[in-house]
Amino acid sequence: MRIKEVSLSSAIEEKIAWAESSYQKFKEHFLRDKVVLDGLKGLRDAIGVSHKEMRRIGIVQICAECEEREGGSCCGAGLENRYDGWLLLINLFLDKELPETRRDAKSCFFLGEAGCLLYARHVICINYLCKKIASRSDPRKINRLREKEGQELERLFLLHEDVKRVLRGR
Ligand code: SF4
Ligand code: SF4
Repeated sequence: MRIKEVSLSSAIEEKIAWAESSYQKFKEHFLRDKVVLDGLKGLRDAIGVSHKEMRRIGIVQICAECEEREGGSCCGAGLENRYDGWLLLINLFLDKELPETRRDAKSCFFLGEAGCLLYARHVICINYLCKKIASRSDPRKINRLREKEGQELERLFLLHEDVKRVLRGR
């Protein structure tokens, strides 16, 4: 199978349209590949573990308060350009819906009312820790979170490669 690709420098709307149309065209072919199916399950589980750890150590609560009182500040416009079409396609396979428009001109295209709309996120989003979180969290707990995020990133990297392999027909 050959697939026409979008480049990293394409507009985010173009990448989203590419991911949506690739999802519709190749969903069945893709979901017959056991390596990819196992990779999706592994990634979903790893993200679940990272999120649970973030809740456990209080980051989710700190961010919710920051959003409410100070409007948040970390998911700025332009960050969406780090995402390639493959990563957006992976989000569709994880049952996430991609937005059609940007909610706020100053914010990332993927920032929804209740936070990030994506499940599989770019390394820059996973690794980001603002000063507020760093100063209010126990470093040992942050290290534990980093370990879990490391597993999430490894799963994501492998799946990203497998999705490309399957859709490029290699
Ligand atoms: S990461 Fe930091 S700046 Fe961003 S919402 Fe959370 S507390 Fe606020
Ligand atoms: S976490 Fe989500 S909303 Fe925030 S910058 Fe990353 S993709 Fe955008």
